[in-house]
Amino acid sequence: MQKGHISVQTENIFPIIKKFLYSDQEIFLRELVSNAVDATSKIKTLSSRGEYKGDLDSLTIDIKLDKEAKTLTIHDRGIGMTEDEVMKYLNQVAFSSASDFLEKYKEDTNIIGHFGLGFYSAFMVAEKVEVRTKSYKGTDGVTWICDGNPEYEIGANDKSDRGTEIILHVGEDSVEFLEEARIQTLLDKYCKFLPVEIRFGTKTEYDYEGEGDDRKQIEKEVENIINNPNPAWRKQPAELKDEDYQNFYKELYPYSQPPLFWIHLNIDYPFNLTGILYFPKLNNSLEVQKNKIQLYSNQVYVTDDVKEIVPEFLTLLHGVIDSPDIPLNVSRSYLQSDSNVRKITNYITKKVADKLNDLFKKDRENYESKWDEISVFVKYGMISDEKFYEKALKYTLFKNIEAEYSTIEEYKEKVKANQTDKHDKIILLYTNNPKEHHSYVQSAQSYGYDVLEFDTVIDNHYMQHLEQKLGDVTFVRVDSDIPSKLVQKEEEQTSVLSEKEQEKVKGLFVESLGSDKENSISLEALSPEDHPVVITVPEFMRRMKEMQALQGNSFGDFPDTFNIVVNTNHPLVADKLLKMKSTEKKSKFANYLYNLALLNQNKLKGEEMSKFINQSIEFMS
Ligand code: ADP
Repeated sequence: MQKGHISVQTENIFPIIKKFLYSDQEIFLRELVSNAVDATSKIKTLSSRGEYKGDLDSLTIDIKLDKEAKTLTIHDRGIGMTEDEVMKYLNQVAFSSASDFLEKYKEDTNIIGHFGLGFYSAFMVAEKVEVRTKSYKGTDGVTWICDGNPEYEIGANDKSDRGTEIILHVGEDSVEFLEEARIQTLLDKYCKFLPVEIRFGTKTEYDYEGEGDDRKQIEKEVENIINNPNPAWRKQPAELKDEDYQNFYKELYPYSQPPLFWIHLNIDYPFNLTGILYFPKLNNSLEVQKNKIQLYSNQVYVTDDVKEIVPEFLTLLHGVIDSPDIPLNVSRSYLQSDSNVRKITNYITKKVADKLNDLFKKDRENYESKWDEISVFVKYGMISDEKFYEKALKYTLFKNIEAEYSTIEEYKEKVKANQTDKHDKIILLYTNNPKEHHSYVQSAQSYGYDVLEFDTVIDNHYMQHLEQKLGDVTFVRVDSDIPSKLVQKEEEQTSVLSEKEQEKVKGLFVESLGSDKENSISLEALSPEDHPVVITVPEFMRRMKEMQALQGNSFGDFPDTFNIVVNTNHPLVADKLLKMKSTEKKSKFANYLYNLALLNQNKLKGEEMSKFINQSIEFMS
């Protein structure tokens, strides 16, 4: 064995490698297995070009653990290295790339996927690295040993087969990497779709033999191949059936529900990108769904944190993006300004928008049937991405409480005649809870109004956004005003009561409900079929309150504002109440009508509710 010294400025770079990258030590395995894959791909290429004439048998890469010897070995049958190449690549090239990387890393610890350290990442977990290699060129085998100092040893060995073995003598503080389960997890995470078969020992498979009572389970030891070298996203869309896409989804997310639909990304100019994005079944909680898109670079797993590459609303999608054109050894903040990345981002957004447009145009019925599940996604996109907004405007749908779906244009056309107010705004009535708003919905419908349903977390934002962008619509919740006023038209209603009688009614209610409510009480001449008292929650105040709640402010800041509207045309008010003799009875009766209205708004709780029920029982008897 011959000794040498790796030329380094910083005398001891290995402790630095260890320390700096401690949090992401585990990427060493990806780096080393990727090198093995590269070496294997190279021998295939040489062979196909006729520059290598030997065998291409058993190219499977082996990962071997030896707990006793405390070694982890990565064994490939790739091109191998000659002594000169070892000197050149492992001592010089690799080393200089390692020190470059560390230089960057010192300034910015947020380098995407921690790519770029390559071979030297082995020193994050190994106290000694032994490389045994034999080149396809037929030269003698070479052994290179380095124990974490800039000193190394190099010499000939008797290795007989082509390829490279990297033997990591795992250090005391990294013994976790001698655990089979840990390595299996890492291989699943980083190497699952590498293009060369990777074997990690054997695994037990269970089979059954015999029939009926004789049926017994038998165990079989089989090769443990940890990857799928030919994942769906690398194939041509024409080669794949729906079933293949669905199966690949299962492979990625074994415990998820089947996806709604998917987009196969496949472009090689002006940048290279492949991938499959899936529309998952979304539920209402946005946060948990994120971080499901995996970024790969030539089938090597990089990260599942893609927010710099994919617009935020698209991070709700699942699937895989694979692009060698995304720079990986740069900091995340740099990525967003990279022109390739910007192009990629736009491309993905466009593809997604076009796919939705396609589905909408080709099979509207099917699109509508999926709308409830994709609506959150589309709305989120429209709020956050201008370009997407413009495209989606054509196919975002409104759903009314009869479960009829219309585009915005269709809907405007439908309600325009009856729901335009005196300021020429089209009033779009909605409920976020048809059950709770049942009587409000009914009375709105009695005026011939259509009621929409908006019940997802982002609807408040979405409606506000549409109001701003469209300019000619206003959203109004069905309980925000009395039905005749929901759409503000200049129409005079007349009360059956004289002014004097009306004053009397108001006085009775103020007395009964307390003078603090005086300002909220108003009299309206509604239809005799409407309720005697109606509680309304002004749209503006309610929105303010909801915004505050969303921003985490307490409800205390904003009082629960609502209006008490007394229907002077209702017989119970116009006739019965006014004709009552005793003041006490009048007061009780007014209070009862008020409580009925509260009950209708789901605002009667606790003690108030008990009192109301007792009072009802009293009335009945
Ligand atoms: P990179 O892979 O980015 O070039 P590395 O530090 O990982 O950088 O490796 C440096 C060089 O060492 C590689 O380019 C390759 O020529 C050589 N090398 C590393 N691992 C192997 C291997 N398993 N078989 C053959 N050559 C290898």
